[in-house]
Amino acid sequence: METAVSTPLDKARAFAAQRHQLFIGGRWIESAEGRRFETFDPATTKRLGEIAEAGAADADAAVRAARAAMESPEWSGMKPAVRARLLNRLADALEANIDEFAALETLDNGMPMRDARFFHLPHAIETLRYNAGWATKLNGDTIALSGMGDWHAYTLKEPVGVVAQIVPWNAPLAMAAAKIAPALAAGCAVILKPAEETSLTALRLAHLIAEIGFPDGAFNLLTGDGETAGAALTAHPGVDKVTFTGSTEVGRLILRAAAGNFKRVTLELGGKTPVIVLPDADPAKAIEGAARAIFTNAGQVCNAGSRLFVHERLHDEVVEGVARIAESIKLGSGFEADTQMGPVISAAQRDRVRGYVRQGVDAGAALRAGGREVESEGYFVAPSVLTGTTEDMSVRREEIFGPVLCAMSFADEDLDRIAVDANATDYGLGAVVWTNNLSAAHRLARKLKAGTVRVNGGGLDPALPFGGFKQSGWGRENGREGIDAYTETKAVAIAI
Ligand code: NAD
Repeated sequence: METAVSTPLDKARAFAAQRHQLFIGGRWIESAEGRRFETFDPATTKRLGEIAEAGAADADAAVRAARAAMESPEWSGMKPAVRARLLNRLADALEANIDEFAALETLDNGMPMRDARFFHLPHAIETLRYNAGWATKLNGDTIALSGMGDWHAYTLKEPVGVVAQIVPWNAPLAMAAAKIAPALAAGCAVILKPAEETSLTALRLAHLIAEIGFPDGAFNLLTGDGETAGAALTAHPGVDKVTFTGSTEVGRLILRAAAGNFKRVTLELGGKTPVIVLPDADPAKAIEGAARAIFTNAGQVCNAGSRLFVHERLHDEVVEGVARIAESIKLGSGFEADTQMGPVISAAQRDRVRGYVRQGVDAGAALRAGGREVESEGYFVAPSVLTGTTEDMSVRREEIFGPVLCAMSFADEDLDRIAVDANATDYGLGAVVWTNNLSAAHRLARKLKAGTVRVNGGGLDPALPFGGFKQSGWGRENGREGIDAYTETKAVAIAI
C-alpha cells in the first residue's frame, strides 16, 4: 500500500502539534514550574500547539548552562574553523528543510508563504553563512604605541561571553538567525528567547542545532513571556550581553535591567521610516517601491516606509498609485497562492492598528484607501493610505507596525528643508529616497538621520550594517560591526 506523501504544510502542522520543551544545556526539558502556553494561527485563530513556558528558574538554568559552555574546552577551545563549519552545516540543514520551515513560519506568523520561502528563509540561511565566514577572521590589531616606549602591543578579540537574545514576532526566524549567527561565530554562548506569539521556527531550529552537534550549552532556547523569561534574562547577573529587537518601550526596560552588572547592550527598536520622492524620480518605480515599503509583511516591519513625502509635482500621481495598489491587495491565508498580505499577528495588534487609523481620521486626516473592517475570523487589516495628517497626530508620530501610510506633499526643492521634515521623528532607523539626481541622492543621504539610507530600492543584506539613530536603538547588527558587537577588545602590551 502506498503511503501519502507528507507535504511541507503537513510536516509543519505535525511539528507544531508536538509537545515543545525548553532546550537547555543540550537537553530538552519541561519548565521548572511545568507551565505551558498555547500558540495560534493568526489567519484562522486556531490553536497550533502548546509550548513550555519558562520562568526565572529556567532562565537561571539556561544561564548556568551557557556559562558552563563558555568555560568548557568543547566550546571555548573550539577552533574558529570548526565553529564556521558548524554554522555552515546549520545553514545547509535549514536549506534542506526550507519548505517545511517556510510553512511553519507562515502558520505561526501569518506571512504569505511566498515571502517566507523566498525572502525570510534565504535571508536566514545567508546570514548564517555570512557570519560563518567571520569566525575565522576575528583579528585584533598590532598597535604602534605613541609614547610608552619599547613595547610590543596588540589587541585580541575575545567572545563577550553569555548572551541573552530576545526577538520579536514579525520576522521570527530571520531575526533569530541575525542574532545567533554572529554570536556563535564569535564563540559566545547563546540563550535565545523568541516572541511568545511565534516560537515555532526557533524550536525547529533548536532541533537542527541539537542534531548538528554544537557543544552542550552553546545554544539554549527559552520559550515564554517577555515579562517573565525575558525580564529574568535581562536582569540576570550571569548574562554578559543582551541583544534585543523589539519595541522602544521594552528597549527602555531592558536598558534599566541591564544596568545592574553593566551588561553590554545592543538594541534594534522601532522606526518611522520616511520615503522621499524627489520631483525627478520615475513615478512608476516610486509608486511600486513606496507601496512595497509599507505593505510588505502587513506593515509589521521595523523599517516600514510609513511616512511618504512626495514633491507636489508628482504627489497626486504617486499617492493615487499607492492607494490603488492598497485597494487591490489580496488579503488572505498565507497558504493561498494569490494572497499578497496575510493577517497581523494578533487581535490586539489588529485593534491597535485600526485605532491609529480612526484617530487619524478623527483628527482631520483623509482616507485615500483602506480604513474598512475586514470580515474574517483571522486578524486582517485593510492596507490604508492617509493624507492631510499633521506632525502632532499619533498616526504620523508613533510607530504603528501595520499597513498604514501617511502621505504628504512638499513644494520646496531645498534638500535641507526636506531633510528637516523627514527627520521630524524620535526614530532614526531607515530612510528611502527616490530620485535620478545622483548629487541630490548623496546629499540627502548625508542629511538624513537614519541608520540605513536606501536610494531607489529596498532590501536587506547580512553584510550591510543595520541599526538605528536616536530612539531606534543602540549599536548595529550585520557586517563587521555586527560581529564585533559580540567581542570584547583586549589590549596586550609586552615590554621588550
Ligand atoms: P516587544 O518589545 O513587545 O517584544 C519583543 C520581545 O521582547 C518579545 O520576545 C517579548 O517577549 C520580549 N519582551 C517583552 N517584554 C519584555 C521585558 N520586560 N523584558 C524582556 N523581554 C521582554 O515587541 P513586539 O511587539 O514583539 O515587536 C514589535 C516591535 O519590534 C516594533 O516596535 C518593531 O519596530 C520592533 N522591531 C525592530 C526591529 C529592528 O531591527 N530595529 C526589527 C523588527 C521589529
